[in-house]
Amino acid sequence: MTRRAFAQDEHAQEGEAMPDAPLSHIARAVLPWRDPADNDTECGKHVADFAKVITWDEARVLVKKHGRQRAAFVLCMTCVETTRRHGSRTQFGQVTFTEEPVERLSREFGKRRSQTDAELRAMAEIVRRYPDEFADLLAGRVMPIEELRRVRRGQRV
Ligand SMILES: [Zn+2]
Repeated sequence: MTRRAFAQDEHAQEGEAMPDAPLSHIARAVLPWRDPADNDTECGKHVADFAKVITWDEARVLVKKHGRQRAAFVLCMTCVETTRRHGSRTQFGQVTFTEEPVERLSREFGKRRSQTDAELRAMAEIVRRYPDEFADLLAGRVMPIEELRRVRRGQRV
C-alpha cells in the first residue's frame, strides 16, 4: 500500500467515525449534596439538554483509545477544554468538590448562583444547629464518613 493510499484509508476510517451520532458532553463532577441529575455539562448546559453526557473518566478513556484528534469527532471539545482549564491543578484533570471545593463551587457562579446561595445558607444553618459536630470535624477529632470508608477500603487491600 502506498503512503497516499494509506492516508486515504486513514481518512476513510475517520469518516466512518463521524456518523450522525450526537456529540458526547462531559458532566461536571457532582456536588456531594446535589442530585446527580441536577447537574451541568462542562460547557455550561443542563445535562438533560443533551442526548449523550458522559463522565470525565469516560472521556479520558475515549481520548486514550482513539487519540485526541479522532476523539474530537465524538466529544464536545468545549467540554474537554473547560474541564482541563478548571482542573489543571487536580490529580485526574477534572475539578471535584473533594479535591478543590472552592474551584468546583466557582463553576456554579453563573446561572446556578441563586441555587448555590440557597444551598450554602442551608449548610450554614446546619452548622448553627450542630456546632459541636462542626467543630469536631474542623479539628479533625471526627473523621468524615467518606474518609472513613476510604481508610477502611485501604485496610482491606
Ligand atoms: Zn459540551
